[in-house]
Amino acid sequence: MKLAEKGCKVKLISVTKCKRSHSVCAQGGINAAMNTKGEDDSPIIHAYDTIKGGDFLADQPPVLEMCLAAPSIIRMMERFGCPFNRTPEGLLDFRRFGGTLYNRTAFCGASTGQQLLYALDEQVRRYEAKGLVEKFEHHEFMRLVLDEEGIARGIIMLDHFTMKLDVLKADAVVVGTGGPGLIFKKSTNSTFCTGAANGRLFKQGMRYANGEFIQIHPTAIPGEDKLRLISESTRGEGGRVWVYGDSSKSIQTSDGKMIPCGKTGEPWYFFEELYPAFGNLVPRDIGAREILKICALGLGIDGQSQVYLDVSHLAEEKKHKLESVLGIYRKFTGDDPRKVPMKIFPAVHYSMGGAWVDWPAADDVDRWTRYRQMTNIPGCFNVGESEFQYHGANRLGANSLLSCIFGGLVAGVEIPRYVDNLATSYSQMPSRMYSEAVAKEEAFKHDLLTRNGSENVYLLHDELAEIMVRDVTVVRNNEDLKQAIESIKKIRDRYQRIKLGDTNNTLNQTLIFAAQFDAMIELALVMAKGALLRDEHRGAHFKAAFPKRDDVNWLKTTIATFNSGKDEPEINYRPVDVRYHKPILRDYATAKKIQPTLENVPANIPLPI
Ligand SMILES: Cc1cc2nc3c(=O)[nH]c(=O)nc-3n(C[C@H](O)[C@H](O)[C@H](O)COP(=O)(O)OP(=O)(O)OC[C@H]3O[C@@H](n4cnc5c(N)ncnc54)[C@H](O)[C@@H]3O)c2cc1C
Repeated sequence: MKLAEKGCKVKLISVTKCKRSHSVCAQGGINAAMNTKGEDDSPIIHAYDTIKGGDFLADQPPVLEMCLAAPSIIRMMERFGCPFNRTPEGLLDFRRFGGTLYNRTAFCGASTGQQLLYALDEQVRRYEAKGLVEKFEHHEFMRLVLDEEGIARGIIMLDHFTMKLDVLKADAVVVGTGGPGLIFKKSTNSTFCTGAANGRLFKQGMRYANGEFIQIHPTAIPGEDKLRLISESTRGEGGRVWVYGDSSKSIQTSDGKMIPCGKTGEPWYFFEELYPAFGNLVPRDIGAREILKICALGLGIDGQSQVYLDVSHLAEEKKHKLESVLGIYRKFTGDDPRKVPMKIFPAVHYSMGGAWVDWPAADDVDRWTRYRQMTNIPGCFNVGESEFQYHGANRLGANSLLSCIFGGLVAGVEIPRYVDNLATSYSQMPSRMYSEAVAKEEAFKHDLLTRNGSENVYLLHDELAEIMVRDVTVVRNNEDLKQAIESIKKIRDRYQRIKLGDTNNTLNQTLIFAAQFDAMIELALVMAKGALLRDEHRGAHFKAAFPKRDDVNWLKTTIATFNSGKDEPEINYRPVDVRYHKPILRDYATAKKIQPTLENVPANIPLPI
């Protein structure tokens, strides 16, 4: 939208209908410190909460700028007609989400992502009508076309209906392909969130950052195809998490004391007891780990890994605001959460890691010779969940939609500047460069269609997903991670010996998936190896043998690089930019509302909105 506004011609490709992009599933809301409830909230506190929530792993300049821009983003979306909930006085309403003590989350009932996406889609249609945007839905990004200097000059895409490969030539490419949940098979992500685009770019030289940081959401329910999220908004509106207590068992609090697990036979609201300051709205990394700890103690419902999430006590007006989420629970379990507590469990939800993208800060001397949101491949930008930048080691709820829109706005400013400074355009590139790139993809397609081994790609995917869920999620240890890496490599070998059940040249979903699986394996290795090497506990990454955050050795961003000569990704590290706030203890048990001071903030930060 922003590129078209600046007169750029945009070709938009998507594996699904754009309006069906995964963002449509986002329920709870989008953060912006607008302080309409008179709590003295501010973008600075929002930035502080985000930095602390991410356990100080996020580079701080992009976080601050995102939080400063957030109120304008809400006003922009409101102008586009996004139907945000309002208070009886007509002000925008805000609910509380995890990891903050402020009501900072704007929402549209419990279908916020859908409303934001539809509002943006309408804007894009205006530019489509003007001929500035051309959409290619049901087309898949397969490969970047790189010139001799390694500069992005377009892409090769696959038509999911005809299975034909085609070229889109361009001066810049923006990737915004969402999360990689399918690497873990059943996650709360949509079933087309494979991460394959990033995996392919990784194989072409794009650096991948912080791959080991995978968010496990505390509250999901099972489904045959995918897991379904029960949004944090249920707790934001007053939902309480509990199990039946057992005073003969004890649990350690965050300050090291042992306390009994509630009173035997009575509901035990364990978050409220363990984290009195934040209660049911502790950040997700902490929430998921505590639930699994409680279940490991044998306190889960029916001895299983599930606990109750109760909204049945809420006033009708609050239940009404949650209707879309409660409807999901009713539809998929048959129980009415208005009347009985929901049974929930933690599930893979979000990737903090993603493409490494650059961020020259407003006062950096080389600000104007670098491009924000650009990957290490010149001309290839990356935004949204598929990049790494805003959430550090753990994302706070309702900060993702914000980072997606903010990253997009920034790309909308940086790309025209990049194109203006480009010495040569794609139109001057030799046609051979494009035909060679198509030929490589044709060869890969032919190879997949003619592999004649005994392996089934879907069964290999099941195996990969099981390893990833077992060894690379909430609790990790080095022995299992080493084993996991070896097993993933064996899966990669066996993948060479697949045979497709469908070898047709139209609408071939097996071929599509087999091609995606190639890239998913590489990202799985990035995640597992990053986790193996990081010997500390930071945000979502936890190893019992290294139970503390280790800023001396590990305050650094993991950078994975593909090396075709080696059978594992190469891992290096970059320092984290902590110029505004030095890392402090991440406390959610006793913390109070504070007015944090950020140091060294430039007086005038130009924002993209
Ligand atoms: C159930 C659920 C609820 C959530 N609720 C919230 C919430 O309330 N608030 C919040 O802030 N965050 C929430 N999140 C997180 C948030 O929804 C996502 O991080 C965000 O929507 C990702 O947006 P995106 O634009 O990066 O990717 P997506 O919305 O997934 O869009 C990716 C696009 O890329 C396309 N694509 C993918 N691969 C390819 C390819 N190879 N070739 C071509 N096109 C491709 C897809 O078709 C799609 O159009 C939630 C997440 C889940 C799973």
